[in-house]
Amino acid sequence: MLDLRLPSPLVELRDARLHDVRLWLKRDDQINPEIPGNKWRKLKHNLPAFGGPVLTFGGAYSNHIRAVAAAGWHFGFATVGVIRGEERLPLNPTLAYAVERGMRLTYLDRGTYRLKHTPEVLEGLQARFPGCLILPEGGSNAAAVLGCRELAAEISAEIDFDVVCCPVGTGGTLAGIAAGLGPGQQAIGFSALRGGGFLADEVARLQREALGEAVPGWRVETAYHCGGYARSTPELSAFIDDFDERHGLRLDRIYTGKMMYGLFDLIGKGSFRPGAKIVAVVTGPEWISQ
Ligand SMILES: *Cc1c(COP(=O)(O)O)cnc(C)c1O
Repeated sequence: MLDLRLPSPLVELRDARLHDVRLWLKRDDQINPEIPGNKWRKLKHNLPAFGGPVLTFGGAYSNHIRAVAAAGWHFGFATVGVIRGEERLPLNPTLAYAVERGMRLTYLDRGTYRLKHTPEVLEGLQARFPGCLILPEGGSNAAAVLGCRELAAEISAEIDFDVVCCPVGTGGTLAGIAAGLGPGQQAIGFSALRGGGFLADEVARLQREALGEAVPGWRVETAYHCGGYARSTPELSAFIDDFDERHGLRLDRIYTGKMMYGLFDLIGKGSFRPGAKIVAVVTGPEWISQ
C-alpha cells in the first residue's frame, strides 16, 4: 500500500572539513516521498489508534500537517488540520497538498493557537469536530517517542556510533532517539527555534510520558537557530548551497540545514574526540521552496 524504504540508507560522508572524525548520514528523508523521515517514525505507532478522524496542529508550512494528510489518505481515516494564523488564499503548496489528500482545514489566530493544548481550546475543537482523536503539534506524543527510539536501534545494527545528531522542532524525535542510546553514546539535538532553552524540558517530559522516566545522554544545542524558526542567515544559505555542491544533497533550511551547519561548526571547533563516529539524521527532504 505504502512503499517504505526501511531501514533507511546509512551512508558515510567524505568531506575534508571532518578532519579526524567520521560522519554518516542516516537518510530518513528517503523513507517515503509522502510521509518521509521522522514524520513516518512518529506516526507509525499512532496509526493503530487512528480508527476515526484525527485532528492535529501545525503552521502553514508544516511537514507534519502534510504527512498526516497523506497518512489519512493512504490508511483511510479522516483528517482535520488546525492551522496557525489567518487563512491565506490561494493556499500555499503544503496546504493545497493537504486538501488534495482530503484534509479539512481550520484556522486559529496566533493567540489562541498558543493555547491550543489547554482544555478550553481543546474542548472547543472537540465540540466542532466530534469524535476526533487529537494528535499534538508535530505529532510528538508517547507513541512518537517509541517510533523514534527504533531509529537509534536501526543505526546501531550497522555501526557502533558515538554521537547521533538530529534537528529539534517539538522535541519528539530527539526524545525518542535518546531513549534508544546504548552506554557511552550521546545524542545532540539542534534547535530550529530561537529561545530553544525550553526544549530540554519538553524532551524530558516526552520521555517521561513514553517511558516513565527521562533518560540521560542527550542535550539541545540552542545556538544554531539562525534567527528563529523558518528564518535564515546568509551564512546558513551559503552553507546549504556549498553542501549541495559538494555532496549533491539539498538540505532543507528549516531543520536539517541548521543541524548540519551547527554540527560542522562544532566539528571545526574540535568538540569531538579524534576518531569519533558521528551520525547525522537527515530527518526530512527539502519540501519548502519559499
Ligand atoms: C518535523 C521535522 C523536524 C522536527 O522534529 P520534532 O520531533 O518536532 O523535533 C525535524 N526535521 C524535519 C525535516 C521535520 O520535518
